Amino acid sequence: MDLTTGKMLWQESYKNPPVYPSLGENISCDVVVFGGGEAGALCAYYLSEHGMDTVLVEKRKIASGSTGANTGLLQVSNDMPLHQMIDVHGQDDAVRFYRLCRTALDDLESLVRSLGNPFGNHASDPDGDPVGGSLTESAGESVGSASEFVRRESLYFASKAADVKHIMDEYDSLSKHGFAVRKLNKQELADQYGLQKEAGLVTTGDAEFNPYRLTHALVDHSARKNVRVYEDTEVASFHFRGQAPTFRTTQGNVIRAKQAVFCMGYETQDYEKTPGAVLTSSYAMATEPIEESLLWKERCLIWETARPYLYLRTTRDNRVIVGGLDGNAPYGRERDEHVFDRTEQLYAEMVALFPVLSGARVDFRWAATFGNSQDGVPFIGRHPAYPNCYLALGYGGNGTVYYVIAAKVIRDMIRKASNLAWAEALLQPNRLRWDKALVQKIEHLFTPGRS
Ligand SMILES: Cc1cc2nc3c(=O)[nH]c(=O)nc-3n(C[C@H](O)[C@H](O)[C@H](O)COP(=O)(O)OP(=O)(O)OC[C@H]3O[C@@H](n4cnc5c(N)ncnc54)[C@H](O)[C@@H]3O)c2cc1C
Repeated sequence: MDLTTGKMLWQESYKNPPVYPSLGENISCDVVVFGGGEAGALCAYYLSEHGMDTVLVEKRKIASGSTGANTGLLQVSNDMPLHQMIDVHGQDDAVRFYRLCRTALDDLESLVRSLGNPFGNHASDPDGDPVGGSLTESAGESVGSASEFVRRESLYFASKAADVKHIMDEYDSLSKHGFAVRKLNKQELADQYGLQKEAGLVTTGDAEFNPYRLTHALVDHSARKNVRVYEDTEVASFHFRGQAPTFRTTQGNVIRAKQAVFCMGYETQDYEKTPGAVLTSSYAMATEPIEESLLWKERCLIWETARPYLYLRTTRDNRVIVGGLDGNAPYGRERDEHVFDRTEQLYAEMVALFPVLSGARVDFRWAATFGNSQDGVPFIGRHPAYPNCYLALGYGGNGTVYYVIAAKVIRDMIRKASNLAWAEALLQPNRLRWDKALVQKIEHLFTPGRS
């Protein structure tokens, strides 16, 4: 699958990442993780930190898949707002899931700190100093130093007047269940953000980061400890000896593992279809660095009630990233030929919101395969068919947060920890095959997600 096209931003921030050998022999391990994107990097990190002999296998280069296209917004709120998720999954599971996302953001911040913070800034400083360094690569800078994790508020605005009720319903749900949120009326939106919209919500606890650098930082850290990392190594087939999986690469080498975690992103759907997973495409652009005084209040993350939604963020070097306008074709010409016109449209939408940004040059434009889950939560847990195999499919616009959850849940499943019954039910990768009531509820209520 051709996951991305166009000129992406993050790779420019780190032009000479570490390289790893391809596998040239037969090996054994406790756990093999397939896929060297952010999912695989997080899973390998959490597993190895808990003493498991871990191998990470990537068929291309580390972070060269969808992770390189990820625009790096991290949110407690999800594509499916809390009040709708309560309708779909019930109050207990929906609120639990939102709390998991909030905790995942805290976990990620701690993780980034543990990778190294040579600048000594505190992520929650009011001026938004990053945990990590600048976007611009500098000689001798450690790979762990520039994940650019910065805490941000999010502004969620009503795309049209009819969506004010949606905003109010979401405010009621978030505040009732203890999530930090405040509502803004038309006047407040205009006064504080310069936006001409009827209503909005400001939520706290969110963040932005550089996914390409964080993935490299994680893999670099893990490789320096005890994880064996292989690039240019593609798993082609597998079979079971008893309950233990054995994998064969395209070069003919064998990996024997007690457990395996599949973190192959959207390409997983090439091997097997996940019920309820929907692949689409998404577009994004980034401007040139902009005079800081022209950027909006506190450089919050911005998104809207429309689906698919438009979203905006800024970068450490004062660029504006705008994304959205998802299309139906997940890959191929039908996706790729629209990179210019869709990103021009994104630019126009940015200027419609913030006329002061008119005239900014566009430096980067890209499109990528994107994936949703029809019931608004990711697919994480035991493989439905293969013993001792696990799936980490964080499909949705909040994918990074989902992968922090996935890494912990799968680690705990492998460790046979108790209290995972909720995850076995809510996140189970095959749930939309067998849970007919859930499928009917979704069909009845709406088609959630970005597309
Ligand atoms: C335009 C866009 C914007 C996004 N913005 C955000 C955002 O703001 N916030 C957010 O949280 N999420 C966002 N996402 C979602 C995010 O990209 C994904 O959730 C995540 O980055 C994908 O990571 P991954 O590790 O699952 O996939 P990938 O990065 O694709 O990694 C999977 C890896 O598996 C490897 N692989 C495949 N098959 C094999 C095999 N047989 N053997 C070995 N290796 C194999 C691939 O080469 C690939 O490197 C966005 C996605 C897109 C497309």
